[in-house]
Amino acid sequence: MKKNTFVTHLECSISGERYEKDLVHGLSDKGKPLLVRYDLEKIKELFSKDYIKKTDKNGFWRYSFLLPVETSNIISLGEVLTPLLSLDNVAKKLNQKKDLLVKDEGLLPTSSFKARGLGVAVSMAKQFGIRHLAIPSNGNAGAAMAAYGAKAGIKCTVFCPDDTPEINIREISRLGAEIFKVNGLINDCGKIVREGKDEVGWFDVSTLKEPYRIEGKKTMGLELAEQLNWELPDVIFYPTGGGTGLIGMWKAFSELQKLGWVEKKLPRMVAVQADGCAPIVDAWRQGKETAELWENANTIAAGIRVPVAVGDFLIIRAVNESNGFAISVSDNEIVEARDFVSKTEGTLLCPEGAATLAAFEKSLSEGLVSNNDRVVLFNCASGLKYSLPEVKNTLNKDQSVDYSMF
Ligand SMILES: *Cc1c(COP(=O)(O)O)cnc(C)c1O
Repeated sequence: MKKNTFVTHLECSISGERYEKDLVHGLSDKGKPLLVRYDLEKIKELFSKDYIKKTDKNGFWRYSFLLPVETSNIISLGEVLTPLLSLDNVAKKLNQKKDLLVKDEGLLPTSSFKARGLGVAVSMAKQFGIRHLAIPSNGNAGAAMAAYGAKAGIKCTVFCPDDTPEINIREISRLGAEIFKVNGLINDCGKIVREGKDEVGWFDVSTLKEPYRIEGKKTMGLELAEQLNWELPDVIFYPTGGGTGLIGMWKAFSELQKLGWVEKKLPRMVAVQADGCAPIVDAWRQGKETAELWENANTIAAGIRVPVAVGDFLIIRAVNESNGFAISVSDNEIVEARDFVSKTEGTLLCPEGAATLAAFEKSLSEGLVSNNDRVVLFNCASGLKYSLPEVKNTLNKDQSVDYSMF
């Protein structure tokens, strides 16, 4: 096997115990996520900010020196650097004085940022010669795994709650994965994957239950830093389900700091959830380190309808270390924020992305952030992957048109 990565080992996120890099891993012996560690001294010696500008690798693969995938195992579906859009019309209306930016992840393969995590995880599965992957998914993760799995020639099995957006379910099926609709939530789907492991022999790609999706998601932080010319924003609002992205970005910032590529001050990380499923917000408010299972989880923001997260303590840790906070918003606020942005900015956010704007507005009015903060929101999927309100206007071409109505 060609060794051209800078991975030194993996580390249990709770005990710090070391794990060998060249073995297939799930959770640590303590049942907690494993984090990948790199030889940052070596990377610092060999790479620079300038090097990144010149690389010809697609999208997030440009940061391959901070990823675990050997070059020959990279599976690429045409990843792009996602745009950082300025919501200047919205900012004006909210009296926000500094940047209000949204990182629009809907342009990645399969139209969501799950492509980052699954692109890396499936490439690693290829690297390890794994033949069968299984995942519980609210839609986007399953689609991304199916796409990269199809390209890699790896069998994929997906379990979705039966009320997952229909477009996702059909997309996953067209991408060649076997998909099953389960009469439950994502944690019920996760249980099926976990309990079938020994009998079927599939590899469990659940959020944070293998070490590499977080490495892919980390590239959001690297890309953001590069796009902002290595000056990170004051606050990041992140729609938090399993929390891979928030934990991943926090890990990325720490790695960038150790490389000396960003200055001391790191962004405050804000975990945004929906009122109908807010286990992290609840736990954070009560000063707890871990969260309780959220009963009867319910929100239109499917991607953040995650009643229990194995990385709960890592989310809360990142929020606290960054002097951030956790906040939830209602489905009504989400819909209002989505419609506000689409009509004033020409950008159709997904409900999870809209939740971050709703949370920003609420935080501004509650004084949790100031209108002088540079703020980045995350829109994690294309707004087109969700059902939209029906349009009732019709016009009969065979009757005279009443032009007074326009
Ligand atoms: C998965 C998902 C999220 C949550 O991401 P995590 O990093 O797992 O917390 C948010 N929004 C969308 C659209 C998603 O698909």
